[in-house]
Amino acid sequence: MQTIRGFRDILPEKICLWQKVEKEAKQLFEAFGFKEIRIPILEKTQLFARSIGEVTDIVEKEMYTFADRKGDKLTLRPEATASIVRSYIQHKMYATDPIRKFFMIGPMFRRERPQKGRYRQFYQIDAEIFGVESALIDSLLIFLLNELFKRLGLTGLTAHINSLGCPECRPSFQKALLKFIESKKDRLCENCIRRMDKNPLRILDCKVPDCKKALVDAPATLDHLCRGCEDHFNTVKSTLEKQKVDFIVDKSLVRGLDYYTRTAWEIQTTTLGAQSAVAGGGRYDGLVKELGGPQTPAIGFAIGFDRLVEVMEQIDKAPEPHPLDLFIVALGDEAIEKGYHWSCELNQADIRTEMDFRGKSLKALMKRANKLAARYVLIAGENELTQNAVILRNMNTKEQVSLHLETLIPELIKIFKK
Ligand code: AMP
Repeated sequence: MQTIRGFRDILPEKICLWQKVEKEAKQLFEAFGFKEIRIPILEKTQLFARSIGEVTDIVEKEMYTFADRKGDKLTLRPEATASIVRSYIQHKMYATDPIRKFFMIGPMFRRERPQKGRYRQFYQIDAEIFGVESALIDSLLIFLLNELFKRLGLTGLTAHINSLGCPECRPSFQKALLKFIESKKDRLCENCIRRMDKNPLRILDCKVPDCKKALVDAPATLDHLCRGCEDHFNTVKSTLEKQKVDFIVDKSLVRGLDYYTRTAWEIQTTTLGAQSAVAGGGRYDGLVKELGGPQTPAIGFAIGFDRLVEVMEQIDKAPEPHPLDLFIVALGDEAIEKGYHWSCELNQADIRTEMDFRGKSLKALMKRANKLAARYVLIAGENELTQNAVILRNMNTKEQVSLHLETLIPELIKIFKK
């Protein structure tokens, strides 16, 4: 049996970086006042179709959707924002405190063509803020991302930012866009042509190289912003400048989801080949209302956890795996049973202790202790036990001491807790 295409195991040898990122992210989120939220992996298909948009790549071709036994259409979540918005509305969080900051870490599912940095089950680290319209919150999220990457020792990442406008400036932009697209119609793919009537903005994130070429000079939302959106975007830029966060304004950045308004951004790297976006985010001031809640401004981002780890692997930031404190070399049945009780007591005291239960020889057990890179070995042979003692060997210095059985555990705790 093998994993299915685009799905993979993350093995214990590789987990250190994942844990390091998770630890740093949680610490930072908590410092910034975010609370963890856990949402289901499965939701009604309609939730994603209505929020991400019916005419988007994700909804049209990438979702894992199936009918359950009663025929309800369910989907494995392709992203977290829609579910968090659903949760915010379902639990009427806006009524008790409309201002909320959430984070979540977990798997997402999209049926994309797998390649390096692109999987069908991948992980995201997600943060969302509800209830604040101020542009300072947009800057805060980009600043937070920047700070996390800095703490992880990453360099060479650039924030690409854009403003996608709001319902007030959209019509003038869409008109200009449609006129432009009409003039390039013969150079566009079938998918783009189909989207002309349904969702012309999505043509701008078509991945087909010929379409990309044809759309180089397409009108940009940035040139059609209303006064409110322009002021909002100017504040984002000036605050980021003051905070010394590197960014570039990227007029062509549209993101692949329909719900975005105003600020949208991506953190890009040059080190991952085609899959250059390590994180993406944006404002979605209309989504809470669209899904049945009160008008509530909101904004969020998602970090591609798999890609982040891949960037970190390239610069070799893997922390050392935790070394084993003690390996118990127990010779004979009596010693094995005693060793078992000692190891449980030491584990309870948070001392990393291992032993082997198979009744192997001294030589084989010492070999295993070396393989596990144990700092100390406790040798309990029949001879030692008749004298109510065991030998503790420092594997580094090769020094040995004899320890009395009666005081063994407190003695060991003293040594390891030093
Ligand atoms: P999105 O929700 O599409 O904006 O994605 C946010 C981030 O998730 C992206 O910037 C990527 O880093 C990551 N991501 C999206 N799709 C995949 C995928 N199929 N495999 C791995 N990472 C992904």
